[in-house]
Amino acid sequence: MKEGFNCSFCGRPKAETNILIAGIDAHICEHCVEQAHGIVMEELKSQNGSGLSDEVLLKKPQEIRAFLDQYVIGQEQTKKVLSVAVYNHYKRLLQQNAKNDVEIEKSNIIVVGQTGTGKTLVAKTIARMLNVPLAIVDATVLTEAGYVGEDVEGILTKLLQAADYDVDKAQRGIIFIDEIDKIARKSDNPSITRDVSGEGVQQALLKLLEGSVVNVPPKGGRKHPDQKFIEVNTQNILFIAGGAFDGIERIITKRLNFHAVGFGSSKENGKADKSNLLQYIIPKDLKDFGLIPEIIGRLPVLTHMDPLDRETLRSILTEPKNALVKQYQKLFEMDGITLTFTEDALWYIVDKALEYKLGARGLRSLCEAVLTDPMYELPGSDHIELEVDQEFVKHALDKNLMKRLALTV
Ligand code: ADP
Repeated sequence: MKEGFNCSFCGRPKAETNILIAGIDAHICEHCVEQAHGIVMEELKSQNGSGLSDEVLLKKPQEIRAFLDQYVIGQEQTKKVLSVAVYNHYKRLLQQNAKNDVEIEKSNIIVVGQTGTGKTLVAKTIARMLNVPLAIVDATVLTEAGYVGEDVEGILTKLLQAADYDVDKAQRGIIFIDEIDKIARKSDNPSITRDVSGEGVQQALLKLLEGSVVNVPPKGGRKHPDQKFIEVNTQNILFIAGGAFDGIERIITKRLNFHAVGFGSSKENGKADKSNLLQYIIPKDLKDFGLIPEIIGRLPVLTHMDPLDRETLRSILTEPKNALVKQYQKLFEMDGITLTFTEDALWYIVDKALEYKLGARGLRSLCEAVLTDPMYELPGSDHIELEVDQEFVKHALDKNLMKRLALTV
């Protein structure tokens, strides 16, 4: 490029630019390229109205499901139901700008399943796929405004923080409310004191779930007069609630038996699978458990997590994209060491997790106990290979973990 050229857009001489790109009849400097990019992004955003990238908008339920499959093992029904709910949620955002008299209602989700079966993982994976901010909150710390504990607005503070205080971004985010079952009304407790962490919190949550403009203290904590609020509209925030609902199986069994008598069950009707009663859950069971009908109505998509069986635990060790075994292999690889597990070693770890009722979370502590010694000893040595077999696992666990576990069970 010859000296003496100017940017054809802003007129800057070449000497004042770092890069001047030549076209057929014109030149453009890096400042103008950046500005033009900004204009294009703004324009695209106002065209699709939702501010979501095209990539997200194009993801069909089966593609969402395929993404979930990379991280979450099993849980077939939940993955399918969530893929559809998420797809519909973002379709709903799209049509808000279009002139249309059919208003699509929000598809907030409630996932019922034992702890450690992947409820949080599913919410995290969806947020990762959509590239939207995610706030994970625990319902147990929530209390009605004015009582000791966190106001429900604090949930939105967390989301704002996850979105780096970009309100637009936060308003399209996902909130995962864990342990929603812990704010069930304690109906069989005829206490005269107010139920500040139960029904009162449910009422307060309703406001958020329904979609409303909420004044959020940006730094959380109690509202005080000198803290400026940020207005957040919850209309397009996707809420996913999760809970173990301990004891709900009894409610389900009772209902199933009732119907069996009522409708004269026959053998062909099939028997309920007693090992996984949650699969029969219906919204009424949540009501009988103590959630108020309004909350249940605002969480219209109800799904369940299956208990993790031996095969699923075995798959969790090696199959997810960021499976535990892959993570440890990566760590060893960074020291030039090839780590492998024999099949019986992996099954041994699974069986110990089952024996001590540690669930999927326990797999991590078991692996850690197995690999602590080699992770300490091998870096810097001349070992380039480590094969972990059953004997190795057994020895390491006996040495590092089993005594402690035996005491806790
Ligand atoms: P929950 O929220 O149901 O208590 P989590 O999602 O926190 O359970 O799961 C705990 C850990 O166990 C996760 O980080 C993940 O590593 C593992 N895990 C649980 N269920 C699954 C699953 N279905 N597929 C893959 N990993 C799982």
